[in-house]
Amino acid sequence: MSKLQERLSQVQAQIRRFALSCDRDPTSVRLIAVSKTRPAREIREAWAAGQKAFAENYLQDALEKIPELIDCDIEWHFIGRIQSNKTRPIAENFSWVHTLSSFKHARRLNDQRPPNLPPLNICVQLNLTGEQSKSGIPEEELGPLLEKLQDLPHLQLRGLMTMPQAAASVNRQHQVFARLRQLLDEMNRQGHALDSLSMGMSGDMQAAICEGATMVRIGTAIFGPRK
Ligand SMILES: *Cc1c(COP(=O)(O)O)cnc(C)c1O
Repeated sequence: MSKLQERLSQVQAQIRRFALSCDRDPTSVRLIAVSKTRPAREIREAWAAGQKAFAENYLQDALEKIPELIDCDIEWHFIGRIQSNKTRPIAENFSWVHTLSSFKHARRLNDQRPPNLPPLNICVQLNLTGEQSKSGIPEEELGPLLEKLQDLPHLQLRGLMTMPQAAASVNRQHQVFARLRQLLDEMNRQGHALDSLSMGMSGDMQAAICEGATMVRIGTAIFGPRK
Protein backbone atom coordinates (compact mmCIF):
# COMPACT_ATOMS: atom_id res chain seq x y z
CA MET A 1 0.00 0.00 0.00
CA SER A 2 1.33 3.48 -0.84
CA LYS A 3 1.70 6.18 1.78
CA LEU A 4 -1.33 7.99 0.34
CA GLN A 5 -3.52 4.88 0.39
CA GLU A 6 -2.41 4.21 3.93
CA ARG A 7 -3.31 7.73 5.09
CA LEU A 8 -6.65 7.55 3.31
CA SER A 9 -7.62 4.34 5.05
CA GLN A 10 -6.45 5.76 8.39
CA VAL A 11 -8.73 8.74 7.91
CA GLN A 12 -11.64 6.46 6.97
CA ALA A 13 -11.01 4.44 10.13
CA GLN A 14 -10.85 7.62 12.24
CA ILE A 15 -14.16 8.84 10.89
CA ARG A 16 -15.69 5.51 11.77
CA ARG A 17 -14.21 5.52 15.24
CA PHE A 18 -15.20 9.13 16.01
CA ALA A 19 -18.74 8.53 14.76
CA LEU A 20 -19.21 5.40 16.83
CA SER A 21 -17.73 7.11 19.91
CA CYS A 22 -20.57 9.62 19.86
CA ASP A 23 -23.32 7.23 18.83
CA ARG A 24 -23.52 8.19 15.21
CA ASP A 25 -23.84 5.99 12.18
CA PRO A 26 -20.42 6.16 10.47
CA THR A 27 -22.06 6.02 7.04
CA SER A 28 -23.78 9.34 7.78
CA VAL A 29 -20.41 11.15 7.53
CA ARG A 30 -18.97 11.62 4.03
CA LEU A 31 -15.30 12.15 3.49
CA ILE A 32 -14.52 14.95 1.05
CA ALA A 33 -10.83 14.84 0.11
CA VAL A 34 -9.37 18.35 -0.15
CA SER A 35 -6.96 18.13 -3.08
CA LYS A 36 -5.98 21.81 -3.36
CA THR A 37 -2.36 22.23 -4.52
CA ARG A 38 -2.10 18.46 -5.16
CA PRO A 39 -1.26 17.12 -8.63
CA ALA A 40 -3.80 15.19 -10.68
CA ARG A 41 -1.66 12.06 -10.28
CA GLU A 42 -2.28 12.01 -6.50
CA ILE A 43 -5.98 12.61 -6.97
CA ARG A 44 -6.11 9.71 -9.40
CA GLU A 45 -4.35 7.52 -6.88
CA ALA A 46 -6.83 8.37 -4.12
CA TRP A 47 -9.66 7.84 -6.59
CA ALA A 48 -8.32 4.39 -7.50
CA ALA A 49 -8.34 3.60 -3.78
CA GLY A 50 -12.07 4.36 -3.67
CA GLN A 51 -12.28 8.09 -2.85
CA LYS A 52 -14.87 9.68 -5.16
CA ALA A 53 -15.46 13.22 -3.79
CA PHE A 54 -12.72 15.87 -3.99
CA ALA A 55 -12.70 19.53 -3.03
CA GLU A 56 -10.72 22.40 -4.51
CA ASN A 57 -10.13 25.98 -3.31
CA TYR A 58 -8.24 27.54 -6.15
CA LEU A 59 -10.38 27.73 -9.25
CA GLN A 60 -7.57 28.09 -11.79
CA ASP A 61 -5.72 25.14 -10.35
CA ALA A 62 -8.92 23.07 -10.31
CA LEU A 63 -9.75 23.93 -13.91
CA GLU A 64 -6.42 22.50 -15.01
CA LYS A 65 -6.89 19.25 -13.12
CA ILE A 66 -10.57 18.53 -13.80
CA PRO A 67 -10.11 17.81 -17.56
CA GLU A 68 -7.12 15.59 -16.82
CA LEU A 69 -9.31 13.45 -14.60
CA ILE A 70 -12.34 13.37 -16.88
CA ASP A 71 -12.20 9.57 -17.13
CA CYS A 72 -12.69 9.26 -13.34
CA ASP A 73 -16.24 9.69 -12.05
CA ILE A 74 -15.17 12.32 -9.53
CA GLU A 75 -17.69 14.51 -7.72
CA TRP A 76 -16.08 17.95 -7.49
CA HIS A 77 -16.74 20.32 -4.57
CA PHE A 78 -15.79 23.98 -4.61
CA ILE A 79 -14.64 25.26 -1.19
CA GLY A 80 -12.79 28.45 -2.12
CA ARG A 81 -13.70 32.09 -2.01
CA ILE A 82 -16.17 32.92 -4.78
CA GLN A 83 -15.42 35.88 -7.06
CA SER A 84 -18.28 37.37 -9.07
CA ASN A 85 -16.42 37.28 -12.35
CA LYS A 86 -15.47 33.61 -11.90
CA THR A 87 -18.84 32.04 -11.15
CA ARG A 88 -19.38 30.52 -14.61
CA PRO A 89 -16.62 27.88 -14.44
CA ILE A 90 -17.81 26.98 -10.94
CA ALA A 91 -21.37 26.50 -12.21
CA GLU A 92 -20.09 24.42 -15.12
CA ASN A 93 -17.56 22.17 -13.43
CA PHE A 94 -18.65 21.43 -9.87
CA SER A 95 -21.42 19.42 -8.21
CA TRP A 96 -21.25 21.22 -4.88
CA VAL A 97 -20.34 24.69 -3.59
CA HIS A 98 -19.69 24.89 0.17
CA THR A 99 -18.82 28.56 0.38
CA LEU A 100 -21.82 30.53 -0.80
CA SER A 101 -22.09 33.79 1.10
CA SER A 102 -24.06 36.22 -1.05
CA PHE A 103 -27.27 36.32 -3.05
CA LYS A 104 -25.45 37.98 -5.90
CA HIS A 105 -23.18 34.95 -6.29
CA ALA A 106 -26.16 32.63 -5.91
CA ARG A 107 -28.03 34.31 -8.73
CA ARG A 108 -25.04 34.16 -11.03
CA LEU A 109 -24.40 30.47 -10.25
CA ASN A 110 -28.09 29.74 -10.84
CA ASP A 111 -28.17 31.57 -14.17
CA GLN A 112 -24.91 29.99 -15.33
CA ARG A 113 -25.65 26.40 -14.33
CA PRO A 114 -25.85 24.43 -17.60
CA PRO A 115 -29.43 23.19 -18.11
CA ASN A 116 -28.28 19.64 -18.89
CA LEU A 117 -26.75 19.27 -15.41
CA PRO A 118 -28.63 18.60 -12.16
CA PRO A 119 -29.02 21.59 -9.82
CA LEU A 120 -25.81 22.75 -8.13
CA ASN A 121 -25.76 21.62 -4.48
CA ILE A 122 -25.20 24.54 -2.13
CA CYS A 123 -24.00 25.01 1.42
CA VAL A 124 -24.13 28.53 2.82
CA GLN A 125 -20.96 29.50 4.68
CA LEU A 126 -21.40 31.07 8.11
CA ASN A 127 -18.86 33.24 9.86
CA LEU A 128 -19.57 32.46 13.50
CA THR A 129 -16.27 33.76 14.88
CA GLY A 130 -16.48 37.36 13.71
CA GLU A 131 -13.04 37.23 12.11
CA GLN A 132 -12.74 39.98 9.50
CA SER A 133 -10.47 37.93 7.29
CA LYS A 134 -12.91 35.08 7.00
CA SER A 135 -15.68 34.62 4.44
CA GLY A 136 -19.21 33.69 5.37
CA ILE A 137 -22.29 35.54 6.55
CA PRO A 138 -23.16 36.41 10.14
CA GLU A 139 -25.98 34.28 11.51
CA GLU A 140 -28.57 37.11 11.43
CA GLU A 141 -28.36 37.09 7.65
CA LEU A 142 -29.02 33.38 7.25
CA GLY A 143 -32.84 33.34 7.33
CA PRO A 144 -33.27 36.16 4.80
CA LEU A 145 -30.67 34.68 2.43
CA LEU A 146 -32.26 31.23 2.50
CA GLU A 147 -35.66 32.75 1.69
CA LYS A 148 -34.26 34.37 -1.42
CA LEU A 149 -32.48 31.19 -2.51
CA GLN A 150 -35.87 29.46 -2.79
CA ASP A 151 -36.44 31.30 -6.05
CA LEU A 152 -33.37 29.84 -7.81
CA PRO A 153 -34.35 26.55 -9.49
CA HIS A 154 -30.85 25.57 -10.65
CA LEU A 155 -29.49 25.59 -7.11
CA GLN A 156 -30.33 22.91 -4.57
CA LEU A 157 -29.95 24.30 -1.09
CA ARG A 158 -28.42 21.48 0.98
CA GLY A 159 -26.95 22.90 4.16
CA LEU A 160 -24.45 24.98 6.06
CA MET A 161 -20.68 25.21 6.33
CA THR A 162 -18.35 26.83 8.84
CA MET A 163 -14.80 26.86 10.18
CA PRO A 164 -13.70 27.66 13.73
CA GLN A 165 -10.67 29.85 14.32
CA ALA A 166 -7.49 28.05 13.34
CA ALA A 167 -6.20 28.16 16.92
CA ALA A 168 -9.51 27.31 18.60
CA SER A 169 -9.40 25.01 21.62
CA VAL A 170 -11.29 21.74 21.39
CA ASN A 171 -14.03 23.25 23.57
CA ARG A 172 -14.35 26.19 21.27
CA GLN A 173 -14.46 23.89 18.22
CA HIS A 174 -17.41 22.09 19.82
CA GLN A 175 -19.18 25.39 20.51
CA VAL A 176 -18.84 26.63 16.95
CA PHE A 177 -19.92 23.34 15.39
CA ALA A 178 -22.82 22.95 17.82
CA ARG A 179 -24.00 26.43 16.88
CA LEU A 180 -23.99 25.52 13.19
CA ARG A 181 -26.04 22.44 13.99
CA GLN A 182 -28.55 24.58 15.95
CA LEU A 183 -28.86 26.98 13.05
CA LEU A 184 -29.59 24.09 10.70
CA ASP A 185 -32.30 22.81 13.04
CA GLU A 186 -33.79 26.31 13.31
CA MET A 187 -33.90 26.71 9.54
CA ASN A 188 -35.56 23.33 9.17
CA ARG A 189 -38.18 24.30 11.74
CA GLN A 190 -38.86 27.33 9.57
CA GLY A 191 -39.67 25.06 6.66
CA HIS A 192 -36.36 24.46 4.90
CA ALA A 193 -35.13 20.94 4.21
CA LEU A 194 -31.40 21.12 4.86
CA ASP A 195 -29.62 17.79 5.20
CA SER A 196 -25.95 18.74 5.18
CA LEU A 197 -23.46 20.10 7.67
CA SER A 198 -20.06 20.70 6.07
CA MET A 199 -17.70 21.02 9.01
CA GLY A 200 -14.46 19.46 10.17
CA MET A 201 -10.94 19.57 8.74
CA SER A 202 -7.83 17.56 9.62
CA GLY A 203 -7.37 19.39 12.95
CA ASP A 204 -10.94 19.46 14.22
CA MET A 205 -12.62 16.44 12.67
CA GLN A 206 -13.50 14.71 15.92
CA ALA A 207 -15.40 17.68 17.37
CA ALA A 208 -17.19 18.22 14.06
CA ILE A 209 -18.32 14.62 13.79
CA CYS A 210 -19.57 14.58 17.36
CA GLU A 211 -21.56 17.77 16.71
CA GLY A 212 -23.24 16.33 13.62
CA ALA A 213 -21.05 16.88 10.55
CA THR A 214 -22.34 15.06 7.48
CA MET A 215 -19.33 16.08 5.35
CA VAL A 216 -15.78 16.48 6.60
CA ARG A 217 -13.30 18.28 4.35
CA ILE A 218 -9.92 16.65 4.88
CA GLY A 219 -6.70 17.63 3.10
CA THR A 220 -3.53 17.31 5.17
CA ALA A 221 -4.43 14.05 6.90
CA ILE A 222 -4.83 12.37 3.48
CA PHE A 223 -2.23 14.05 1.28
CA GLY A 224 0.32 15.19 3.86
CA PRO A 225 1.35 18.78 4.63
CA ARG A 226 1.05 21.37 1.86
CA LYS A 227 4.04 23.50 0.83
C1 LIG B 1 -7.69 23.61 3.06
C2 LIG B 1 -9.11 23.48 3.50
C3 LIG B 1 -9.58 22.32 4.12
C4 LIG B 1 -8.69 21.16 4.49
O1 LIG B 1 -7.81 21.51 5.51
P1 LIG B 1 -6.80 20.42 6.14
O2 LIG B 1 -6.41 21.04 7.42
O3 LIG B 1 -5.68 20.29 5.17
O4 LIG B 1 -7.55 19.15 6.32
C5 LIG B 1 -10.92 22.26 4.43
N1 LIG B 1 -11.77 23.28 4.15
C6 LIG B 1 -11.34 24.41 3.55
C7 LIG B 1 -12.34 25.48 3.28
C8 LIG B 1 -10.01 24.55 3.22
O5 LIG B 1 -9.61 25.69 2.66
